[in-house]
Amino acid sequence: KADQVLTGEEIQDLDKDYVMHSWSKQGNKALAIEKADGIYFWDYQGKRYTDMSSLLVCTNLGHNNKEIINAIHEQVDKMAFMAPAYATEPKAKLAKMLVDIAGDNYSRVFFTNGGAEANENAIKMARMVTGKSKILSRYRSYHGASLGAANASGDPRRFAAESPAASGFIKFFDPYIYHEKIKFADEEEATNYYLHQLEEQIIYEGPNAIAAILLESITGANGVIIPPEGYLQGVRKLCDKYGILMICDEVMAGFGRTGKMFAFQHWGIEPDLITFAKGVTCGYVQLGGVIVSDKVSKYFEDNVLQCGLTYSGHTLACAAGVASVNYYFEHQILDHVNEVGQYLGEFLEGMKEKHPCVGDVRYIGLFSALELVKDKATREPLVPYGTPNNIMSTIMGKLKEKGFSTFGRENNINICPPLIITKEQLLETLPILDEVLTWVDQTYLF
Ligand code: PLP
Repeated sequence: KADQVLTGEEIQDLDKDYVMHSWSKQGNKALAIEKADGIYFWDYQGKRYTDMSSLLVCTNLGHNNKEIINAIHEQVDKMAFMAPAYATEPKAKLAKMLVDIAGDNYSRVFFTNGGAEANENAIKMARMVTGKSKILSRYRSYHGASLGAANASGDPRRFAAESPAASGFIKFFDPYIYHEKIKFADEEEATNYYLHQLEEQIIYEGPNAIAAILLESITGANGVIIPPEGYLQGVRKLCDKYGILMICDEVMAGFGRTGKMFAFQHWGIEPDLITFAKGVTCGYVQLGGVIVSDKVSKYFEDNVLQCGLTYSGHTLACAAGVASVNYYFEHQILDHVNEVGQYLGEFLEGMKEKHPCVGDVRYIGLFSALELVKDKATREPLVPYGTPNNIMSTIMGKLKEKGFSTFGRENNINICPPLIITKEQLLETLPILDEVLTWVDQTYLF
């Protein structure tokens, strides 16, 4: 019955029998979660987990944030939803706030329900504005699960959407220096190498056929790959040179995660389109969107924007967005991230020194990953790319057993806690990671 209160066990059983879970074979028992607060959540046995990944890198302001919750309550009492054709206070306010955050040369926002739809619509806009069709994106990327976004994604989650593929999606290599066979003298040399490769590819693909280069400003799910100095500026220049639009996917890296509101702002560039989701509402209500530059916006003053969604600019979601964005500023979250992020960075460097299984650590703000290897000297990954195995899920399970919840792909463990985490909470939780890495050294390295 709908009003029956279920036990944790009953919830798990119902879920197991009726719910389809993402990216997995069906029929497994999922952990039932009863409540969440701050950086923690609890199961029905009362066991506490520290959320060291902000769930899927979205609960940037933690769980149960009263300011966001109150804004949702106030809005739902007034008007839960109004159709996209109408103007509403939360939608109008949030659009202006986002345009202001993006920089001087942005004009408007198209709202979606999440990150995949944001990229899907950015791709459509780029094709409409340029009249060209090819989209260049990178192998180590994830842009969402819908057809276009999945075909733009590089990681193996794209394969099911690639058969048959949507057309016009071309991949290039990431500046993944740690795994490059060439040993660069410095970042500048690496940047020049990758930009040269990209320019060659643009020429071979035909600049007159390429609508956009779509890239995560900092690769997230595929191992927090931070571009070398000059790389994003170089991509921007190539886009300008060849009449290609630049789309920065800020779905994961945006909203304070890296110590700036948007990650591309570390390099002083201005993409033509910015896609966002996750941290805009911290997941309290689902929301995403595309922030467009003056140039793109101008095009759609004379041409019809062929994009639309029943829930574009959902009233309740935008109210949650206004409260979240306010919170980032009123509580100086960026300063806090930059301060606490230093401790995280120092800790991760310590892990690299101490553990033979930690090949590389990459971090910026509270966005970080540890890359696990079999052999530090050869950099052989602990698990080969794209190969089914249960090693990483066992490691994640070990962490969870000890109350440390996070995720990772391939041979990476992502550490991306809520941005409100204190130094004390961080220092209290990270020793669990140290313990589990010792277990990894002893179990998988020989
Ligand atoms: N882009 C990036 C960089 C992401 O990390 C994700 C999701 O993790 C997406 C897009 C897709 O967002 P959504 O799951 O909201 O569709």
